[in-house]
Amino acid sequence: MAQPLTAAEIDFDTPGFRTGYVRLSHSDDRHAFSVIPVPVAVLVGGRPGPTMFLSGGTHGDEYEGQALLHRLLRATDPAGLAGRLIVMPALNLPAVRAGRRVSPLDGGNLNRVFPGDPATGPTGAIAAWVAANVLSRAGFACDLHSGGSSGRYLPCAYLHWGGDVAFRRRKIAAARAFGAPFTVIAAGTGAYGSMTAECDRRGVVMVSAEFGGGASLDVELKDLAGACLERLLAHVGIRDAGVAPVGETRFLRLAGSGSAPMAEVPGLFEPARRIGETVRAGELAGTIWPVTSLGSPGVEVRFPRDGLLVVERVRPMVEPGDLLFQLGTEVDPESLMDF
Ligand SMILES: [Zn+2]
Repeated sequence: MAQPLTAAEIDFDTPGFRTGYVRLSHSDDRHAFSVIPVPVAVLVGGRPGPTMFLSGGTHGDEYEGQALLHRLLRATDPAGLAGRLIVMPALNLPAVRAGRRVSPLDGGNLNRVFPGDPATGPTGAIAAWVAANVLSRAGFACDLHSGGSSGRYLPCAYLHWGGDVAFRRRKIAAARAFGAPFTVIAAGTGAYGSMTAECDRRGVVMVSAEFGGGASLDVELKDLAGACLERLLAHVGIRDAGVAPVGETRFLRLAGSGSAPMAEVPGLFEPARRIGETVRAGELAGTIWPVTSLGSPGVEVRFPRDGLLVVERVRPMVEPGDLLFQLGTEVDPESLMDF
């Protein structure tokens, strides 16, 4: 059982750079005489401006964002900032240490437990601390993800479609400034416990991002995400403008899991297509080989609809119910304002 967190020994207000820990108390065999020190950095600029929260390691098997934030902390002189950055590259530290999506301490998925509750365990305690101490101070947020151990994403910004029309337009403007090759709008999803949903409830303009996957660290994608983040910092006014010009992002609406090709038999999935490709309904998505039936023709899986491949499966061994791809459709975000 997690105990409520003590306050981080962090000064959020004096100009400069400082680091500290959220001291998470958790009593089990390993941690009876320990705390779990979730690291946090605060950079307070020399001029007034907005506050932005930057996070990685919300899922512990996603690495581009973690590395990018370590590099950003080394490269940023707070005196040149207007406003404040609060940076947590290893947000779910137990999951980061374990290289897992969820916490090994309580099985918690940090992106499903907001607004958080310390009584539910360490993961809920981290969420509650972030909500009360960070998001309460922030006007903007960027949470850096990848496809993790099981998937690989097209490099994209990811917008949770909450809030009213004016709020959605602020998110769209932020995503255009971020300038990822794609921006996925998760319209109609009910991820109530995500950090983005919490930001929506608090009026924090948040751009999530998905760069890479397969539990690896793609340096080119990390650098691309870094360039996008620099533009976003300029857009919100924390950094001076003058960063490299941005390509036009293409907005996609993610199709629901009901339109994703799904494994219906166990076996070894051999994909026929890659992320970034446009597919038509009925085309081959791949073949599932039953590993103990030699000479079998395999089970062909076909795309149930047209679309652009946004996510591809990385782990080839599949069980019934595993999604093999996720599809998106290009969309004008203005057409979704009332959705
Ligand atoms: Zn993630």
